[in-house]
Amino acid sequence: MAVQRITYVPSYSLVLTTLCANKCGYCPYPHSYIEPLPSKKRLLRELHRAAHKGASLINITAGEGISAHPEIVETIAYYGLSDYLSYLCFVSNCISSINTSYSLFPEMDIGLLSYAELKILRKHFLSYKLLLESVDPMVQASDAHRYAPDKEPKRRTEALINAGRVRIPTTSGLLVGIGESKGSRKRCLETLAEIHSRYGHIQSIEIKRFSPYKRTPMGQNPPPSPDDMIETVHMARTILASNIIIQVSALENSDIALELVKAGVRDIGEFPLNDENGQFARSQQLLLQIEDELARQGFQLEQRLPIFPPYIQKGWYPLDFRDLIKKYFQRNTPETFLSKLKSASHAAQ
Ligand code: SF4
Repeated sequence: MAVQRITYVPSYSLVLTTLCANKCGYCPYPHSYIEPLPSKKRLLRELHRAAHKGASLINITAGEGISAHPEIVETIAYYGLSDYLSYLCFVSNCISSINTSYSLFPEMDIGLLSYAELKILRKHFLSYKLLLESVDPMVQASDAHRYAPDKEPKRRTEALINAGRVRIPTTSGLLVGIGESKGSRKRCLETLAEIHSRYGHIQSIEIKRFSPYKRTPMGQNPPPSPDDMIETVHMARTILASNIIIQVSALENSDIALELVKAGVRDIGEFPLNDENGQFARSQQLLLQIEDELARQGFQLEQRLPIFPPYIQKGWYPLDFRDLIKKYFQRNTPETFLSKLKSASHAAQ
């Protein structure tokens, strides 16, 4: 019997800013502050750090709906650029400039984008991440999304359709445990399945577990139960096309990672290599532990890129990345983050 492969990706989050036009009741962004939009010097410093740590995915992330925010407009003008879109292209140019020595693959997780914006950005970024999160009107009217106009399901659906029209491989998904009903989880998955049936661009669906952050309006709410998560994965597998990968973060679900895989998860998500809050050490430790658990159950853990193989075969990626992707797959025994980690761990014993 063929071994079932489960993928993961070593990632590094490059937070451009925590400024956001929304105030989701579960998000720490509006309560933290990172000065807007790093300079070229700071971007390059972060990117070098990411490459040295072994990241392959660079998660370009920011608050949503910020392009007209006065601090953003002012910073962009200071850098001599015209608008937020040109700043994002500038970020991409920084990545290309260090990719002469490294292999960093950028994904954008920056909220709603128009058709025109996506058409330009798809030439710079390998993939787009935009969770639909929920289509439940009760959620929209609750603490979760009452002050988050960009989480309006119609607006998010439109952006996902635009992503399909420009053919950018997209990861979407839902957020479980923010007050939605089981029926609305089903409707959310059906909406995503329907969009994918028209455009074929949804490479993976993340089923994200709500996690309460202190000092947020939903900081006292309980996370969803393990059964809720497993049941949602089963539901997703029956609703979504078989070519959509179901993704659940093993880091956020380490208590039930194996059960989730048995329920149909085929990607255990990102292992962030950022230094903050002991993330790097935790990612390393958990990856080794999960690989061991999966191997004992007959699963094989494999590193992936932000873009999944069917979209590589279809050529749905920016031309600038053609040689890097080729190089990645031409190696007979690619040196992955996990293989380096295992060698280091053996050497230390
Ligand atoms: S839109 Fe995203 S960044 Fe902004 S508050 Fe909501 S979850 Fe946080």
